[in-house]
Amino acid sequence: MDLYEYQARDLFEAHGVPVLGGIVARTPAEASAAAHELGGGLVVVKAQVKVGGRGKAGGVKLARTPQEAADAASQILGMDIKGHTVEAVMVAQGADIEQEFYFSMLLDRAQRTYLALCSVEGGMEIEQLAEERPEVLVRRTLDPRTGLDAEAAAAIVAEAGFPEDIADEVAGVLVLLGGVYAAEDATLVEVNPLVKTRQGRIVALDGKVSLDENADFRHPSWGALRDDSKADPLELRARAKGLNYVKLDGQVGIIGNGAGLVMSTLDVVAYAGEDVPGRPRPANFLDIGGGASAQVMADGLDIILSDPQVSVVFVNVFGGITACSEVAKGIREALTQLGNRASKPIVVRLDGNAVDVGRAILAEYAHPLVTQVATMDEAAAAAAQLASAAMEGK
Ligand code: GDP
Ligand code: MN
Repeated sequence: MDLYEYQARDLFEAHGVPVLGGIVARTPAEASAAAHELGGGLVVVKAQVKVGGRGKAGGVKLARTPQEAADAASQILGMDIKGHTVEAVMVAQGADIEQEFYFSMLLDRAQRTYLALCSVEGGMEIEQLAEERPEVLVRRTLDPRTGLDAEAAAAIVAEAGFPEDIADEVAGVLVLLGGVYAAEDATLVEVNPLVKTRQGRIVALDGKVSLDENADFRHPSWGALRDDSKADPLELRARAKGLNYVKLDGQVGIIGNGAGLVMSTLDVVAYAGEDVPGRPRPANFLDIGGGASAQVMADGLDIILSDPQVSVVFVNVFGGITACSEVAKGIREALTQLGNRASKPIVVRLDGNAVDVGRAILAEYAHPLVTQVATMDEAAAAAAQLASAAMEGK
């Protein structure tokens, strides 16, 4: 989950990272009030969108008075920045910048460790910095067990070549940012720019934070950070049911057990789709997990069948912990519960644990919409054919 800048600012503040005051505003009047609350002096009005380069796009404006803050907000609100409509701004205390630096800490999946990136040349985007000035970008691998401790921070600051007089203070701020990363289960904490003000303070002026949703069970407060207005309505419904569902843009609804099997099912369906007219594609990812109950199957089918783009569903289950007999009962139960709402063909491939019983249950049920196919490739081809026929029929 990516956070807005103002949410990152609040997190930083809660962990003692030096930041400037910032208040969210959704109207020019709120922006003016916020500027008042911040003392009535220089503020920066910043578009709150989950994309970088707001400054260049005109989404960051200085304002000297509350009236100017309102004017800036009215220009920025509603603006489109790289496809994101600005619905809120943050009014932040203005900083008197002497120097801009770059810092980030992230999960390096390829190396299976944490990585810190730091440079005394901040302000520009990291991709550009890495390309144009790789020699000034320090990369340091961090042991996940110790994270960004004082020793690592001191080494980073020394290697990056921060001026003597601020080295210790910067290192201290990096340790605090490493604390945010660890305590908040982040996968990214980026500060660009980290600045030195003319008053000599080190301040995090912009923050980008991504949180690892696998850890949401231990962060009840994350619920308030979610921005449901931007989420896909089917994904919201799926989350409410505790389903592991991701909406895609194709026509073949997919249910499987185990993330690996579901991923390969997406591939197989995509390949099969290339051989038929209309080139149907997978409509979603849905992993019902091991030991899924009939209810979970019913919830999953319900979500997928309410996607208007779906014209066929492919249920692909390899019984391991899950017995195919249970899956078959689940499908039967789901179709009974759904009644008329189950209106699209369902291709079922069962294999593994208790496959014979499972197939027999579905054969006996003999629902007109259910077709059983023995192998994954044949089932994918059958699903693609049905989706293609539906597309051509439209
Ligand atoms: P981004 O473009 O989306 O990364 O937005 P930033 O928050 O990083 O702002 C872009 C640039 O605006 C920064 O690199 C600064 O140069 C400038 N900026 C942001 N806040 C202030 C501020 O308080 N005072 C001044 N003088 N400049 C600022
Ligand atoms: Mn920035």
